[in-house]
Amino acid sequence: MSSTTKDTPPPLPEPLRVAVADSHTHLDMQNGTVEEALAKAASVGVTTVVQVGCDVNGSRWAAETAAAYEAVHATVALHPNEAPRIVLGDPDGWSRQGAREAGGDAALDAALAEIDALAALPHVRGVGETGLDHFRTGPDGMAAQQRSFRAHIEIAKRHGKALVIHDREAHDDVLRILREEGAPERVVFHCYSGDAEMAKVCAEAGYYMSFAGNVTFKNAQPLRDALAVAPPELVLVETDAPFLTPAPYRGRPNAPYLIPVTLRAMAEVTGMTEEALATAVAANTARAFGY
Ligand SMILES: [Zn+2]
Ligand SMILES: [Zn+2]
Repeated sequence: MSSTTKDTPPPLPEPLRVAVADSHTHLDMQNGTVEEALAKAASVGVTTVVQVGCDVNGSRWAAETAAAYEAVHATVALHPNEAPRIVLGDPDGWSRQGAREAGGDAALDAALAEIDALAALPHVRGVGETGLDHFRTGPDGMAAQQRSFRAHIEIAKRHGKALVIHDREAHDDVLRILREEGAPERVVFHCYSGDAEMAKVCAEAGYYMSFAGNVTFKNAQPLRDALAVAPPELVLVETDAPFLTPAPYRGRPNAPYLIPVTLRAMAEVTGMTEEALATAVAANTARAFGY
């Protein structure tokens, strides 16, 4: 007897006729091997993935994986929720490593130095995900988060790499800090979550907007409105897998092979054909990450 549970991987979508990249994924948090994930993705026209690091070890792994596989590009960073954990410790123990000693500013500086060194590697195409997360990090962690974000901006600029932004309920502060520090040449708002008004601000600044599976959610009309006004030359698509599985598979495991589901929903919103949107997205992702 077979039954579908929340752990059942969604079926393979129909292949895209124009190949695209998953601009933001976490293969190290998904089931199965890298080879399996890449093969499954390639079978439906997702021929490139950007593997995103969230802490020092994950960033090292991203760089190594990108060096080993032609189809993988890496970005490296301390996630906005990782920076406060390094400085303040992790009293709630929700990180994978569990509770750890508070390391203070010196520990953050040491971790940033590791990210800086990794950012110099040729297979590392971006610095991120960095930014601000007012949802998960409370007021006590904000100073560390902002200091880390500013440091990542500086690292991206010095190495000439793309800056990958994580912005959760922090739109105004993220845009303000980018202005204050001076943004790098290429900036990608991963899992874009602003409204149409903010999309115009991003477009004006030339920031890329990467849309994830949540653009398909019923309650996400403001996000679809943002996509509708975003210039096609600044639009990317991502899974952020294993998170944010697109409808109608919400709650089940996400992976790069599900990009066609989100891209087709996006094509509908923009009024572009699937092929035209895929062609634009493929070019945009290569331009954003310089590969
Ligand atoms: Zn993120
Ligand atoms: Zn992510």
